[in-house]
Amino acid sequence: MDRTATAVVEGELLARRGRLESALATLGRPPALVRLLDDVDSALDRMERGTYGLCQTCHDPIEPRRLAADPLLRFCLDHLDSEQRQALEEDLALAGRVQQGLLPSNDVTHGGWEICYHYQPAGMVGGDYCDLLTPGDDVVFLLGDASGKGVASSLLASHLHAVFRSLLDTPLPVKQILTRANRVFCESTLSAHYATVVCGRALPTGAIEIANAGHCPPLEIRGGDVVPVEATGLPLGLFCTADFATHCLRLDRGDCLLLYSDGLTEARNPEGSEYGMERLHEFAAAVAGGSSSRRFAERLVADWSDFRAGVPPADDLTVMVVRRAL
Ligand SMILES: [Zn+2]
Repeated sequence: MDRTATAVVEGELLARRGRLESALATLGRPPALVRLLDDVDSALDRMERGTYGLCQTCHDPIEPRRLAADPLLRFCLDHLDSEQRQALEEDLALAGRVQQGLLPSNDVTHGGWEICYHYQPAGMVGGDYCDLLTPGDDVVFLLGDASGKGVASSLLASHLHAVFRSLLDTPLPVKQILTRANRVFCESTLSAHYATVVCGRALPTGAIEIANAGHCPPLEIRGGDVVPVEATGLPLGLFCTADFATHCLRLDRGDCLLLYSDGLTEARNPEGSEYGMERLHEFAAAVAGGSSSRRFAERLVADWSDFRAGVPPADDLTVMVVRRAL
């Protein structure tokens, strides 16, 4: 861990220590909190001695993503005892189920729109984020990708879910949703953590207001024409005061918008080449017209699997098809 990162974690630990002490003062001294305070003190002590972030058994660095998710860790994955290892596996399985439970309903038909998504984490938990809400006659759709991999990024993705859900109760324009989500996300995560996201609001008139915060460009598909919606802002979590430009488009019956994560375009085949944007454009132009959103999503996932020809996916995959049905 470099010196700046250690200083950031130290600041967080000191803040956590302050909160624990005031909790201890008001709650009497519950043993669990006293233990937590000991763990925080021990981490601060390791920082002072320069051994923070090193496994206490083998003295090698602890996996950075695990440490980012839990700054109090003292052992690398190889040196967890069997009880700790089993507990970790159970926690992961539970986290996976919790994450599945956060997914929105699928095959939504609302306000003249038909929306279908496919969400497939590469491991037990995933760092992709996908949500779908239907305030009034509108449909609000979100698809994103939290930085990093594994458990740490899945925590971020779940955090993002909570932040957006809290904002979507009110009829905010897309620009406001992203500006506010960014501010909350920025103030509640470490600076090295960020997330790319596309947020759109589809109206019953066929209009879509959309903003792309650093995510892979969604594709606007009308007949055989495929137009990417390029990024209009930086990923969330980088700067607290970032601004997000929105883009408006209008879809006619049968036109659709395809959102996806980089697990699609960066998938590799046995020869090592990438699925890529070119194949995606060609596929979208040939297949989108006439297909229902479910059929289109299924055929795209099948094409992705065919391309990999047995190579296991290295990243999470999410695709979402927003189709004008009226
Ligand atoms: Zn170790």
